[in-house]
Amino acid sequence: MTTTDPAHWSETPIETLFKETNSSKEGLSTQEAQVRLKKVGPNKIEAAKKQSFLKTFLGNFTSFMAILLWVAGIIAFIAQMTELGIAIWLVNVINGLFSFWQQYRAAQATNALQQMLPSYTKVLRDGKEAKCLVEELVPGDVVHLESGDNIPADGRLIICDSMQVNQSALTGESTTVSKEAEVLTAQQVQAAGQFAEANLVYEGTSVVSGSGDMLVLATGMQTEFGHIASLTNTVDQTKSPLEKELEVLTRQLSMIAIIIGILFFLAAIFFVHSPWVQSFIFALGMVVAFIPEGLLPTVTLSLAMAVQKMAKRNALVKHLNSVETLGETTVICSDKTGTLTKNEMTIEQVWLPSAQYEVSGTGYNFHGQVTKNQQTIDLTKETDLCQLLRIGVLDNDSSLEQKNNSLQLVGSPDEGSILVLAGKAQFDRQQAQQTYTRKSVLPFDSKRKRMTTIHQEGEKSWAFTKGGIDETLNVATQYLKNGQVLPLDDTVKQQILAKNDDFAKAGLRTLAFAYRQLTNQDTTIASVEQELIFVGLTASQDPPRDNVLEAIQTCHDASIRIIMVTGDYGLTAESIARKIGVVRGDDVRVITGEQLTAMADEDLKENLQHEIIFARVAPEQKYRVVSMLQSLGEIVASTGDGVNDAPALKKADIGVAMGITGTDVAKEAADMILADDNFTSIVNAIEEGRTVYSNIQKFLLYILNSNLPEAIPSVLFLFSRGLIPLPLTVMQILSVDLGTDMFPALGLATEKTEPGTMKRPPRKRGAHLLTRNILLKAFGWYGLMASLFSIGAYFYVNVLNGWPQVPLANGGNVYAVATTMTLAAIVFSQIGAVFNCRTTTESLFKIGFFTNRRVLFGIAFELVLISCLIYVPFLQSAFNTAAIRPQDWLYLIAIPIPVILFEELRKFFLRRRLRKADS
Ligand code: ADP
Ligand code: MG
Repeated sequence: MTTTDPAHWSETPIETLFKETNSSKEGLSTQEAQVRLKKVGPNKIEAAKKQSFLKTFLGNFTSFMAILLWVAGIIAFIAQMTELGIAIWLVNVINGLFSFWQQYRAAQATNALQQMLPSYTKVLRDGKEAKCLVEELVPGDVVHLESGDNIPADGRLIICDSMQVNQSALTGESTTVSKEAEVLTAQQVQAAGQFAEANLVYEGTSVVSGSGDMLVLATGMQTEFGHIASLTNTVDQTKSPLEKELEVLTRQLSMIAIIIGILFFLAAIFFVHSPWVQSFIFALGMVVAFIPEGLLPTVTLSLAMAVQKMAKRNALVKHLNSVETLGETTVICSDKTGTLTKNEMTIEQVWLPSAQYEVSGTGYNFHGQVTKNQQTIDLTKETDLCQLLRIGVLDNDSSLEQKNNSLQLVGSPDEGSILVLAGKAQFDRQQAQQTYTRKSVLPFDSKRKRMTTIHQEGEKSWAFTKGGIDETLNVATQYLKNGQVLPLDDTVKQQILAKNDDFAKAGLRTLAFAYRQLTNQDTTIASVEQELIFVGLTASQDPPRDNVLEAIQTCHDASIRIIMVTGDYGLTAESIARKIGVVRGDDVRVITGEQLTAMADEDLKENLQHEIIFARVAPEQKYRVVSMLQSLGEIVASTGDGVNDAPALKKADIGVAMGITGTDVAKEAADMILADDNFTSIVNAIEEGRTVYSNIQKFLLYILNSNLPEAIPSVLFLFSRGLIPLPLTVMQILSVDLGTDMFPALGLATEKTEPGTMKRPPRKRGAHLLTRNILLKAFGWYGLMASLFSIGAYFYVNVLNGWPQVPLANGGNVYAVATTMTLAAIVFSQIGAVFNCRTTTESLFKIGFFTNRRVLFGIAFELVLISCLIYVPFLQSAFNTAAIRPQDWLYLIAIPIPVILFEELRKFFLRRRLRKADS
């Protein structure tokens, strides 16, 4: 093994490094790699030290509310109310364990997610290129790097083709660095400085352009990046805006609770003249009841579960924050090819100045025919077509490979479709490749929108070019017709463009072909791609993805705009956009990349108010579109897959990278990765985002409900100056708040998407979780109903038995039975309320009472708990409860019926009003 010294790596000839690492140009054998993996360990940067288990655990017992309860317990012990003290502490422990369990589950969900995003690299094993998990790389491996790849380890370049690397993660410098494979002298290494050695590449950096092969010399924590990580070793766990808001909310509600508590404490002492210890514990009960203690862990858990649900629907979200932002999204900037369409190209037409051809058949197979005037062609007579096919199959990096009796495309669909065309026309690619040996390539880039290869045929040297129509005609000066090369004048140009537009208007994607004989050895783009001879056009169909029409309709219903941003030709883009419903009006603005560059901010803003399509734009131009939309107040989701998409992905509120076609760089810059590259998955994720937010509101509404019926008894007690004995004791309040309410509430946090969720506009950014509506509903409506029923229960027991405190026939104590009924009535009101909280507008009769299992389980648990409180002797004495009679149960069981029916009536009128407002 070699030393981990970059200077040494840089100054040593590559052959020596191969020797030192026991490797070669062919890389390692799979077996050897496994042996090394065992020895050096996986290639990964150890995650920063997690907060210790104990600390997390204890955190749940040292929260503000927990401390209050500990103190309350101590005071109860001091006042010799031992049972009360024990009970308070028990409640505290149970509550702490519960929130710890929630925390744990949320963490598990997030960890599981990280494992769903494996990264791969291309490595030489057994002399062949193979896909390998980055974690399984070992020193001695030979890795192939291309633009958009993350560099997976530290190493030395073996070969290098104009590679540019972004090292900002290591150096903080955002300018790219050029790399080369040559060995350096000691002086050169010294002059370069750390990380700047031209022949070394480092883990944590990425390839911006060019390509090359590297010899892996250090992996995992042995890399420079690993050293740095081990020094800082912190993960920033930024809190989501939602979590921050919840913290603020909890603090505010706690303050209100404390103020109420102090008022009650003073009232108890001065109005009722209770002893101060009792007054204190009484006031404390109120405080604890009003603090929404379970809020934060529950919200984190429901966010984490939403993330898991999204993952099942092919949207992998990297941070919990994104779930929230997704629900707010107002605009989606989407690629066309591959996201809205299938990216399965089939050439249907070929047009040459001399003739036009129709092509039949679909898919990557040769079943289909090329016809001219409805006649099957004889290729030997079609010289111009031959030339087009020659350019097409030679200026082509893709191939069709036989696999299980069918052809499989390796490469890009655009190029694949040309190979299919050639197959259908029975053009021999292999023979062409032998006659014209490939010398070099000027690769496709999204700015030029052309690709050229240079070939040698005997003494002659040829350039073959394919690309976008304008981009090709711009560099052409002649054209081919019936084997003759003629000057390309404006009339012919117009004719070509008119034909192209005919295709484009039909939604076909066109590609232009041209060539030229080269006279000099120059291979720069500018000198090769000029004075070309135009040959013809192909027009291909790229069908919309399944379900994309529905997804787009959903976006329209949900007031989410879709802006198509594509590299394709304007008319093609518009035609497809219209076909799938992205644009629908008459005033659609199609802005090209060139126009966009020249456009002033103000004009762009004006244009963005209309239906708009961006065509022939380069990915880096998306950044401006995204930021301009943001300055108009939009919450923008933007898709992308290439290196140049990264800035826009970072800038967007939700950057969406393609999981299949996306580069490492794009995936890293994104907030969400689509496992299936499908537009529909974005819309599904938005739906989940909206659902989870509204579920959190449902949860919040539910836990606030019980506050009023919990407070009213104390108010009665205080303002009657003790004439009305306290209808609900402190322990009983705690038993609702930290006992019976908990599980049904959790069920609400996982409620299914409510019908109509995607028929509403997105919520406003910065909208508060706790709306006035929720407060009104919690206190003025559900809370009021529950208060009436519970106080009603209290008086009902008392009045029936002679007010107050006449001993019962069975020797029971009327007061205890009466308080028990208050408590049980609150619980039964909450049973009605939990059903009510499940929807905001929809009828329960429509979504079904039994469709949320967790809620049902929660209610069952609640019933068991309240029965124990009523009948178990030990609990009776701790919670001041007593057995109730069968007729009392009838009263209780009847409660949820009006609670639900009244609310159904309200929702009915609400729906009617909403419908009216809509029409
Ligand atoms: P999009 O994926 O949004 O359609 P691209 O940037 O991939 O946009 O392609 C833009 C245009 O460049 C295409 O419409 C086509 O004319 C041309 N083009 C795409 N791929 C190639 C290629 N491999 N060789 C030559 N031209 C290409
Ligand atoms: Mg493309």
